[in-house]
Amino acid sequence: MRVMGLTIPLALFAFSSLASDTNQNIIDRARGIHKRVITVDTHVDIPPNFATTAYDPMKPGPRGQQVHIPTMIEGGLDATFIIVFVGQGPRTDAGYAKALSDAFVKFSAIHRVTSDMYPDQIELARTADDVRRIDAAGKKVALIGIENGYPMGKDLRLLDQFYDYGARYLGLIHTGHNDLGDSSVPNRRRGEPDEEHGGITDLGRQVVNRLNELGIMVDVSHASKQTSLDIIAESKAPVIASHSSLEGVYDHPRNMSDEELMAIKKSNGVVQVVAFDSYLRAVPQGKKDAIAALWKELGIISFADYRKLAGDDLQTYDARMAEIELAFPKAGVKDLADHIDYAVEKVGIGHVGIASDFNGGGGIAGWSDASETFNVTLELVQRGYNEEQIAKLWGGNLLRVLADVEAYAKEAKG
Ligand SMILES: [Zn+2]
Repeated sequence: MRVMGLTIPLALFAFSSLASDTNQNIIDRARGIHKRVITVDTHVDIPPNFATTAYDPMKPGPRGQQVHIPTMIEGGLDATFIIVFVGQGPRTDAGYAKALSDAFVKFSAIHRVTSDMYPDQIELARTADDVRRIDAAGKKVALIGIENGYPMGKDLRLLDQFYDYGARYLGLIHTGHNDLGDSSVPNRRRGEPDEEHGGITDLGRQVVNRLNELGIMVDVSHASKQTSLDIIAESKAPVIASHSSLEGVYDHPRNMSDEELMAIKKSNGVVQVVAFDSYLRAVPQGKKDAIAALWKELGIISFADYRKLAGDDLQTYDARMAEIELAFPKAGVKDLADHIDYAVEKVGIGHVGIASDFNGGGGIAGWSDASETFNVTLELVQRGYNEEQIAKLWGGNLLRVLADVEAYAKEAKG
Protein backbone atom coordinates (compact mmCIF):
# COMPACT_ATOMS: atom_id res chain seq x y z
CA MET A 1 0.00 0.00 0.00
CA ARG A 2 2.96 2.32 0.44
CA VAL A 3 4.44 1.85 -3.01
CA MET A 4 3.66 5.31 -4.27
CA GLY A 5 4.76 7.23 -1.18
CA LEU A 6 8.14 5.52 -1.09
CA THR A 7 9.23 4.68 -4.63
CA ILE A 8 8.44 7.87 -6.49
CA PRO A 9 10.49 10.23 -4.31
CA LEU A 10 13.38 7.70 -4.38
CA ALA A 11 13.22 7.12 -8.13
CA LEU A 12 13.22 10.83 -8.80
CA PHE A 13 15.78 11.66 -6.18
CA ALA A 14 18.21 13.11 -8.74
CA PHE A 15 15.55 15.19 -10.50
CA SER A 16 14.10 17.31 -7.77
CA SER A 17 12.18 19.59 -10.13
CA LEU A 18 10.51 16.53 -11.62
CA ALA A 19 9.80 15.23 -8.12
CA SER A 20 7.94 18.39 -7.21
CA ASP A 21 5.97 18.17 -10.50
CA THR A 22 5.05 14.64 -9.54
CA ASN A 23 4.03 15.74 -6.07
CA GLN A 24 1.83 18.36 -7.71
CA ASN A 25 0.36 15.63 -9.93
CA ILE A 26 -0.44 13.53 -6.87
CA ILE A 27 -2.06 16.51 -5.17
CA ASP A 28 -4.12 17.27 -8.29
CA ARG A 29 -5.20 13.65 -8.62
CA ALA A 30 -6.11 13.52 -4.91
CA ARG A 31 -8.14 16.72 -5.31
CA GLY A 32 -10.08 15.18 -8.18
CA ILE A 33 -10.80 12.03 -6.20
CA HIS A 34 -11.73 14.02 -3.08
CA LYS A 35 -14.22 16.04 -5.11
CA ARG A 36 -15.83 13.02 -6.79
CA VAL A 37 -16.23 10.63 -3.84
CA ILE A 38 -18.81 11.17 -1.10
CA THR A 39 -16.96 11.81 2.16
CA VAL A 40 -18.88 10.62 5.22
CA ASP A 41 -17.60 11.26 8.75
CA THR A 42 -19.50 8.97 11.12
CA HIS A 43 -18.92 10.83 14.39
CA VAL A 44 -19.23 14.55 15.12
CA ASP A 45 -20.37 15.61 18.58
CA ILE A 46 -22.41 18.70 19.42
CA PRO A 47 -22.81 20.57 22.69
CA PRO A 48 -26.31 21.28 24.04
CA ASN A 49 -26.11 24.86 22.72
CA PHE A 50 -25.63 23.73 19.10
CA ALA A 51 -27.78 25.66 16.63
CA THR A 52 -28.13 28.70 18.87
CA THR A 53 -26.24 31.98 18.59
CA ALA A 54 -23.61 30.36 20.87
CA TYR A 55 -22.76 27.76 18.18
CA ASP A 56 -24.16 28.82 14.85
CA PRO A 57 -23.12 26.18 12.30
CA MET A 58 -22.69 28.84 9.60
CA LYS A 59 -20.28 30.94 11.70
CA PRO A 60 -17.02 29.24 12.69
CA GLY A 61 -16.55 29.32 16.48
CA PRO A 62 -16.88 29.20 19.40
CA ARG A 63 -13.58 27.99 20.82
CA GLY A 64 -12.82 24.36 20.23
CA GLN A 65 -15.74 23.53 17.90
CA GLN A 66 -14.36 21.79 14.82
CA VAL A 67 -17.27 21.44 12.37
CA HIS A 68 -19.33 24.10 10.60
CA ILE A 69 -20.99 24.25 7.19
CA PRO A 70 -18.31 26.65 5.79
CA THR A 71 -15.46 24.46 7.11
CA MET A 72 -17.17 21.38 5.61
CA ILE A 73 -17.32 23.19 2.27
CA GLU A 74 -13.69 24.27 2.55
CA GLY A 75 -12.49 20.77 3.43
CA GLY A 76 -14.76 18.89 1.04
CA LEU A 77 -16.49 17.02 3.86
CA ASP A 78 -19.88 16.05 2.39
CA ALA A 79 -21.75 14.26 5.15
CA THR A 80 -21.52 13.94 8.92
CA PHE A 81 -23.32 11.89 11.48
CA ILE A 82 -24.17 14.44 14.14
CA ILE A 83 -24.31 12.75 17.49
CA VAL A 84 -27.00 12.70 20.13
CA PHE A 85 -24.71 11.85 23.04
CA VAL A 86 -25.69 11.67 26.67
CA GLY A 87 -23.07 10.69 29.26
CA GLN A 88 -23.82 7.77 31.53
CA GLY A 89 -25.52 8.85 34.77
CA PRO A 90 -27.49 7.20 37.54
CA ARG A 91 -29.75 4.32 36.50
CA THR A 92 -32.80 5.70 38.27
CA ASP A 93 -36.13 7.01 36.97
CA ALA A 94 -34.89 10.57 37.51
CA GLY A 95 -31.61 9.76 35.75
CA TYR A 96 -33.39 8.23 32.72
CA ALA A 97 -35.82 11.18 32.50
CA LYS A 98 -32.98 13.71 32.54
CA ALA A 99 -31.02 11.71 29.93
CA LEU A 100 -34.05 11.51 27.63
CA SER A 101 -34.66 15.22 27.93
CA ASP A 102 -30.97 15.93 27.18
CA ALA A 103 -31.16 13.66 24.13
CA PHE A 104 -34.19 15.52 22.77
CA VAL A 105 -32.39 18.86 23.20
CA LYS A 106 -29.77 17.53 20.74
CA PHE A 107 -32.30 15.99 18.34
CA SER A 108 -34.12 19.34 18.27
CA ALA A 109 -30.91 21.26 17.65
CA ILE A 110 -30.06 19.10 14.62
CA HIS A 111 -33.59 19.48 13.23
CA ARG A 112 -33.42 23.22 13.83
CA VAL A 113 -30.35 23.45 11.58
CA THR A 114 -31.71 21.32 8.75
CA SER A 115 -35.35 22.48 8.84
CA ASP A 116 -35.35 26.07 10.10
CA MET A 117 -31.91 27.67 10.01
CA TYR A 118 -30.08 26.44 6.89
CA PRO A 119 -32.34 24.13 4.84
CA ASP A 120 -30.74 25.42 1.62
CA GLN A 121 -27.27 24.40 2.86
CA ILE A 122 -27.76 21.13 4.71
CA GLU A 123 -30.43 18.43 4.75
CA LEU A 124 -31.19 15.53 7.07
CA ALA A 125 -30.75 12.13 5.40
CA ARG A 126 -32.85 9.20 6.59
CA THR A 127 -31.63 6.64 4.04
CA ALA A 128 -28.47 5.79 2.11
CA ASP A 129 -30.25 6.97 -1.06
CA ASP A 130 -31.01 10.29 0.65
CA VAL A 131 -27.28 10.80 1.21
CA ARG A 132 -26.52 10.39 -2.51
CA ARG A 133 -29.50 12.53 -3.58
CA ILE A 134 -28.67 15.40 -1.20
CA ASP A 135 -24.98 15.30 -2.12
CA ALA A 136 -25.82 15.36 -5.83
CA ALA A 137 -28.01 18.41 -5.19
CA GLY A 138 -24.93 20.23 -3.86
CA LYS A 139 -26.00 20.39 -0.23
CA LYS A 140 -24.26 19.09 2.88
CA VAL A 141 -25.72 15.97 4.45
CA ALA A 142 -26.60 15.56 8.12
CA LEU A 143 -27.30 12.13 9.58
CA ILE A 144 -28.02 11.33 13.21
CA GLY A 145 -26.30 8.78 15.44
CA ILE A 146 -26.98 8.12 19.11
CA GLU A 147 -24.08 7.50 21.48
CA ASN A 148 -25.15 5.64 24.62
CA GLY A 149 -28.44 3.76 25.03
CA TYR A 150 -28.91 5.36 28.45
CA PRO A 151 -31.63 7.86 27.36
CA MET A 152 -34.07 5.01 26.56
CA GLY A 153 -33.86 3.80 30.15
CA LYS A 154 -35.66 0.46 30.03
CA ASP A 155 -38.36 1.55 27.58
CA LEU A 156 -37.83 -0.13 24.21
CA ARG A 157 -40.67 1.90 22.65
CA LEU A 158 -38.42 4.97 22.76
CA LEU A 159 -36.27 3.37 20.05
CA ASP A 160 -39.19 3.81 17.63
CA GLN A 161 -39.29 7.47 18.54
CA PHE A 162 -35.54 7.83 18.03
CA TYR A 163 -35.98 6.29 14.58
CA ASP A 164 -38.76 8.74 13.73
CA TYR A 165 -36.48 11.61 14.83
CA GLY A 166 -33.92 10.38 12.32
CA ALA A 167 -31.46 8.26 14.33
CA ARG A 168 -29.72 5.80 12.02
CA TYR A 169 -27.17 4.30 14.37
CA LEU A 170 -27.12 3.66 18.08
CA GLY A 171 -24.10 2.75 20.20
CA LEU A 172 -25.45 0.89 23.22
CA ILE A 173 -22.81 1.95 25.69
CA HIS A 174 -20.47 4.81 26.55
CA THR A 175 -17.91 5.21 29.37
CA GLY A 176 -19.26 3.27 32.37
CA HIS A 177 -21.35 0.09 32.36
CA ASN A 178 -25.10 0.47 31.81
CA ASP A 179 -28.32 -1.57 31.61
CA LEU A 180 -27.43 -2.87 28.14
CA GLY A 181 -23.92 -4.22 28.73
CA ASP A 182 -20.36 -3.56 29.83
CA SER A 183 -18.21 -0.65 28.77
CA SER A 184 -14.66 -0.85 27.40
CA VAL A 185 -13.84 1.86 29.94
CA PRO A 186 -15.49 1.32 33.36
CA ASN A 187 -16.21 4.42 35.40
CA ARG A 188 -13.47 4.07 38.00
CA ARG A 189 -14.50 7.22 39.88
CA ARG A 190 -17.78 5.45 40.61
CA GLY A 191 -15.80 2.39 41.65
CA GLU A 192 -17.00 0.21 38.78
CA PRO A 193 -15.37 -3.22 38.35
CA ASP A 194 -13.89 -4.37 35.01
CA GLU A 195 -17.19 -6.08 34.18
CA GLU A 196 -20.69 -5.80 35.61
CA HIS A 197 -22.63 -8.24 33.43
CA GLY A 198 -19.93 -10.23 31.62
CA GLY A 199 -21.19 -9.01 28.25
CA ILE A 200 -24.54 -7.95 26.80
CA THR A 201 -27.66 -8.05 29.03
CA ASP A 202 -31.08 -9.43 28.11
CA LEU A 203 -32.32 -5.87 27.65
CA GLY A 204 -29.28 -5.21 25.43
CA ARG A 205 -30.27 -8.17 23.24
CA GLN A 206 -33.81 -6.82 22.94
CA VAL A 207 -32.38 -3.44 21.93
CA VAL A 208 -30.25 -5.03 19.19
CA ASN A 209 -33.29 -6.92 17.86
CA ARG A 210 -35.48 -3.81 17.87
CA LEU A 211 -32.77 -1.74 16.14
CA ASN A 212 -32.58 -4.45 13.45
CA GLU A 213 -36.36 -4.35 12.97
CA LEU A 214 -36.42 -0.56 12.80
CA GLY A 215 -33.47 -0.16 10.42
CA ILE A 216 -31.07 1.56 12.82
CA MET A 217 -27.42 0.48 12.54
CA VAL A 218 -26.04 -1.17 15.68
CA ASP A 219 -22.76 0.39 16.85
CA VAL A 220 -20.21 -1.37 19.10
CA SER A 221 -17.78 1.52 19.73
CA HIS A 222 -17.24 1.99 23.50
CA ALA A 223 -18.59 -1.50 24.34
CA SER A 224 -16.30 -3.98 26.12
CA LYS A 225 -14.81 -6.69 23.92
CA GLN A 226 -17.21 -9.37 25.16
CA THR A 227 -20.20 -7.05 24.91
CA SER A 228 -19.25 -6.07 21.41
CA LEU A 229 -18.83 -9.73 20.33
CA ASP A 230 -22.22 -10.49 21.93
CA ILE A 231 -23.85 -7.55 20.10
CA ILE A 232 -22.41 -8.68 16.76
CA ALA A 233 -23.54 -12.28 17.37
CA GLU A 234 -27.05 -11.07 18.26
CA SER A 235 -27.51 -8.71 15.32
CA LYS A 236 -29.14 -10.06 12.19
CA ALA A 237 -27.98 -7.05 10.16
CA PRO A 238 -24.42 -5.73 9.60
CA VAL A 239 -22.83 -3.99 12.60
CA ILE A 240 -20.60 -0.90 12.70
CA ALA A 241 -17.94 0.47 15.01
CA SER A 242 -18.74 4.16 14.46
CA HIS A 243 -15.47 5.54 15.87
CA SER A 244 -12.76 3.09 16.93
CA SER A 245 -9.20 2.37 15.90
CA LEU A 246 -7.26 -0.88 15.89
CA GLU A 247 -5.75 -2.73 18.83
CA GLY A 248 -3.36 -4.49 16.42
CA VAL A 249 -1.61 -1.15 15.84
CA TYR A 250 -1.97 0.33 19.31
CA ASP A 251 -3.36 -1.44 22.37
CA HIS A 252 -6.06 0.79 23.88
CA PRO A 253 -9.34 -0.39 25.46
CA ARG A 254 -11.32 1.78 22.99
CA ASN A 255 -9.72 0.08 19.98
CA MET A 256 -11.09 -2.98 18.18
CA SER A 257 -9.31 -6.30 18.71
CA ASP A 258 -8.64 -8.54 15.69
CA GLU A 259 -11.43 -10.82 16.94
CA GLU A 260 -13.94 -7.96 16.93
CA LEU A 261 -12.66 -6.80 13.55
CA MET A 262 -13.19 -10.27 12.05
CA ALA A 263 -16.65 -10.51 13.62
CA ILE A 264 -17.63 -7.14 12.12
CA LYS A 265 -16.41 -8.33 8.73
CA LYS A 266 -18.43 -11.55 9.12
CA SER A 267 -21.53 -9.44 9.80
CA ASN A 268 -20.71 -7.55 6.57
CA GLY A 269 -20.26 -4.41 8.66
CA VAL A 270 -17.63 -1.68 8.83
CA VAL A 271 -15.06 -0.27 11.29
CA GLN A 272 -14.80 3.52 11.09
CA VAL A 273 -11.19 4.27 12.04
CA VAL A 274 -11.13 7.33 14.27
CA ALA A 275 -8.76 10.32 14.23
CA PHE A 276 -8.38 10.37 18.01
CA ASP A 277 -4.87 11.15 19.28
CA SER A 278 -4.73 8.84 22.28
CA TYR A 279 -6.24 5.84 20.41
CA LEU A 280 -3.79 6.07 17.50
CA ARG A 281 -0.52 5.83 19.42
CA ALA A 282 0.95 6.06 22.91
CA VAL A 283 0.70 9.63 24.18
CA PRO A 284 4.15 10.56 25.59
CA GLN A 285 4.25 10.32 29.39
CA GLY A 286 5.63 13.87 29.55
CA LYS A 287 2.48 15.16 27.86
CA LYS A 288 0.17 13.22 30.18
CA ASP A 289 2.06 14.55 33.21
CA ALA A 290 1.95 18.13 31.92
CA ILE A 291 -1.82 17.96 31.29
CA ALA A 292 -2.47 16.29 34.66
CA ALA A 293 -0.49 19.05 36.39
CA LEU A 294 -2.48 21.73 34.53
CA TRP A 295 -5.79 20.10 35.46
CA LYS A 296 -4.74 19.87 39.10
CA GLU A 297 -3.67 23.51 39.14
CA LEU A 298 -7.01 24.67 37.73
CA GLY A 299 -9.08 22.28 39.87
CA ILE A 300 -10.38 20.31 36.87
CA ILE A 301 -11.48 16.82 37.83
CA SER A 302 -13.76 15.81 34.94
CA PHE A 303 -14.55 16.90 31.37
CA ALA A 304 -17.64 18.60 32.79
CA ASP A 305 -15.32 20.87 34.84
CA TYR A 306 -13.17 21.43 31.77
CA ARG A 307 -16.21 22.56 29.75
CA LYS A 308 -17.14 25.05 32.48
CA LEU A 309 -13.77 26.86 32.36
CA ALA A 310 -14.17 30.62 31.96
CA GLY A 311 -12.35 33.95 32.34
CA ASP A 312 -8.72 33.90 33.48
CA ASP A 313 -8.75 30.14 34.06
CA LEU A 314 -9.82 29.58 30.46
CA GLN A 315 -7.07 31.87 29.17
CA THR A 316 -4.47 30.16 31.33
CA TYR A 317 -5.70 26.77 30.16
CA ASP A 318 -5.57 27.66 26.46
CA ALA A 319 -2.12 29.29 26.70
CA ARG A 320 -0.63 26.37 28.63
CA MET A 321 -2.25 23.76 26.39
CA ALA A 322 -0.80 25.53 23.35
CA GLU A 323 2.66 25.20 24.93
CA ILE A 324 2.07 21.53 25.74
CA GLU A 325 0.83 20.80 22.19
CA LEU A 326 3.90 22.52 20.78
CA ALA A 327 6.23 20.42 22.93
CA PHE A 328 4.33 17.16 22.27
CA PRO A 329 2.52 17.26 18.91
CA LYS A 330 -0.58 15.12 18.37
CA ALA A 331 -0.67 12.01 16.22
CA GLY A 332 -0.99 12.87 12.53
CA VAL A 333 -2.74 11.77 9.36
CA LYS A 334 -0.01 9.15 8.78
CA ASP A 335 -0.86 7.52 12.12
CA LEU A 336 -4.53 7.44 11.11
CA ALA A 337 -3.59 5.89 7.75
CA ASP A 338 -1.44 3.26 9.53
CA HIS A 339 -4.61 2.08 11.33
CA ILE A 340 -6.58 2.17 8.06
CA ASP A 341 -3.85 0.13 6.29
CA TYR A 342 -3.89 -2.43 9.12
CA ALA A 343 -7.67 -2.84 9.02
CA VAL A 344 -7.69 -3.10 5.21
CA GLU A 345 -4.99 -5.77 5.36
CA LYS A 346 -6.95 -7.75 7.95
CA VAL A 347 -10.51 -7.55 6.63
CA GLY A 348 -10.31 -6.03 3.17
CA ILE A 349 -11.19 -2.67 1.67
CA GLY A 350 -14.96 -3.35 1.98
CA HIS A 351 -15.11 -3.15 5.78
CA VAL A 352 -13.20 -0.01 6.70
CA GLY A 353 -14.23 3.64 6.98
CA ILE A 354 -13.23 6.94 8.59
CA ALA A 355 -14.47 9.06 11.51
CA SER A 356 -13.16 12.21 13.22
CA ASP A 357 -14.85 12.39 16.65
CA PHE A 358 -14.61 16.17 16.19
CA ASN A 359 -15.98 18.17 19.12
CA GLY A 360 -15.63 15.02 21.23
CA GLY A 361 -11.87 14.81 21.72
CA GLY A 362 -11.03 13.87 18.12
CA GLY A 363 -8.79 15.74 15.71
CA ILE A 364 -5.12 15.18 14.87
CA ALA A 365 -2.26 17.08 13.24
CA GLY A 366 -3.33 17.62 9.64
CA TRP A 367 -7.01 16.80 10.27
CA SER A 368 -7.69 19.13 13.17
CA ASP A 369 -11.07 20.32 11.90
CA ALA A 370 -13.46 19.81 8.97
CA SER A 371 -11.57 22.31 6.78
CA GLU A 372 -8.55 19.93 6.63
CA THR A 373 -10.45 16.84 5.47
CA PHE A 374 -8.64 16.74 2.10
CA ASN A 375 -5.35 15.81 3.83
CA VAL A 376 -6.76 12.37 4.64
CA THR A 377 -7.53 11.69 0.98
CA LEU A 378 -4.09 12.98 -0.02
CA GLU A 379 -2.41 10.56 2.40
CA LEU A 380 -4.49 7.66 1.04
CA VAL A 381 -3.55 8.55 -2.55
CA GLN A 382 0.12 8.79 -1.53
CA ARG A 383 -0.16 5.28 -0.08
CA GLY A 384 -1.43 3.93 -3.39
CA TYR A 385 -5.16 3.61 -2.78
CA ASN A 386 -7.12 4.14 -6.00
CA GLU A 387 -10.34 6.09 -6.45
CA GLU A 388 -12.63 3.09 -6.10
CA GLN A 389 -10.94 2.10 -2.83
CA ILE A 390 -11.00 5.64 -1.46
CA ALA A 391 -14.70 5.96 -2.34
CA LYS A 392 -15.36 2.84 -0.24
CA LEU A 393 -13.28 4.07 2.70
CA TRP A 394 -14.82 7.54 2.65
CA GLY A 395 -18.44 6.42 2.86
CA GLY A 396 -19.21 3.80 0.22
CA ASN A 397 -18.89 0.98 2.74
CA LEU A 398 -20.90 2.79 5.39
CA LEU A 399 -23.71 3.57 2.92
CA ARG A 400 -23.73 -0.06 1.79
CA VAL A 401 -24.18 -1.11 5.44
CA LEU A 402 -26.95 1.45 5.96
CA ALA A 403 -28.73 0.16 2.84
CA ASP A 404 -28.37 -3.46 4.07
CA VAL A 405 -29.78 -2.47 7.46
CA GLU A 406 -32.71 -0.72 5.74
CA ALA A 407 -33.32 -3.82 3.61
CA TYR A 408 -33.29 -6.12 6.66
CA ALA A 409 -35.86 -3.90 8.41
CA LYS A 410 -38.10 -3.87 5.34
CA GLU A 411 -37.98 -7.64 5.19
CA ALA A 412 -38.60 -7.97 8.94
CA LYS A 413 -41.74 -5.83 8.61
CA GLY A 414 -42.89 -8.32 5.96
ZN1 LIG B 1 -17.25 8.32 21.72
